[in-house]
Amino acid sequence: MSLPSSVRRAPLAFAALLFAGAALAQDAPQTASTPATTWQADVAGMASAEDNAGRRAHLRERLASTGMAVDVQTFAYGEITGENLIAEVSGDPAQPMLLIGAHSDRVSAGRGATDNASGSAVALALAERFRAQPLQGHRVQVAFWDLEEEGLRGAAAYIAQQREKPALYVNFDVFGWGDSLWMMTPDDAHPLVASSRDAAQAQGLQITAGTRYPPSDHLAFLKAGWPAVSYSMIGAAEIPDILAVFGGKPPTSMPKVMQVIHSADDTVEHVDADAVVKGIDAVEAAIRAWDADAATH
Ligand SMILES: [Zn+2]
Repeated sequence: MSLPSSVRRAPLAFAALLFAGAALAQDAPQTASTPATTWQADVAGMASAEDNAGRRAHLRERLASTGMAVDVQTFAYGEITGENLIAEVSGDPAQPMLLIGAHSDRVSAGRGATDNASGSAVALALAERFRAQPLQGHRVQVAFWDLEEEGLRGAAAYIAQQREKPALYVNFDVFGWGDSLWMMTPDDAHPLVASSRDAAQAQGLQITAGTRYPPSDHLAFLKAGWPAVSYSMIGAAEIPDILAVFGGKPPTSMPKVMQVIHSADDTVEHVDADAVVKGIDAVEAAIRAWDADAATH
């Protein structure tokens, strides 16, 4: 997710705890993994990587460990060679394709835990769920874009290289805590909006859905006329302030997300796995309802 230049930094300085947490984990007795611990471990795995190649290595390992073959799509951006990771998740080749995805890269400041190891770990969790229990009417692929922070370059390269056009692209960016889903949709009447409202309510979450939303990879698809939506998860109270900042107006208070992302404070300490799992459950249920509806109509 990119930020307007006007945002002031208010660092909170928690990074040192990251390594202490990792050392402690080695001595702890092995406990059964849960959706929350798996998501947290994926965020920590990406956040502890030294660079974007290390973040991708974590994702490749995880995808391979679940038997998903990874296709590495390279592209040039100036002197840089970017790498998108794309994997077939489940479904029949004859079915229309649902593409879920998130950007794997981070800016140089901080560890990119919330922006966007959080969204990458959500896309991975959903891919595992759709692999374990395929959708009725859609094939699923998962993609991890590179160089989003340089201007949505990876997603744009996917389209420029005429890769497969999905029936729908579902993006995840900044999905780290809070009591609310934030959904970007170009069309309020899209059936996934209604199913997302129902699913959020079922999880006791709020939801804001609409066109006003920060830039992320869904925009590259929409610009090409390809169908796309995007999800974030933060505190409901943060959303009006974020929109105020993007609208060039001073927010009543600087929302947490803007104090954390693109700063030295974007570390694992700020994410909340127990909250996020409710968000993942809600999005899974919303997508399955949309899929079932499409499959029967
Ligand atoms: Zn981002």
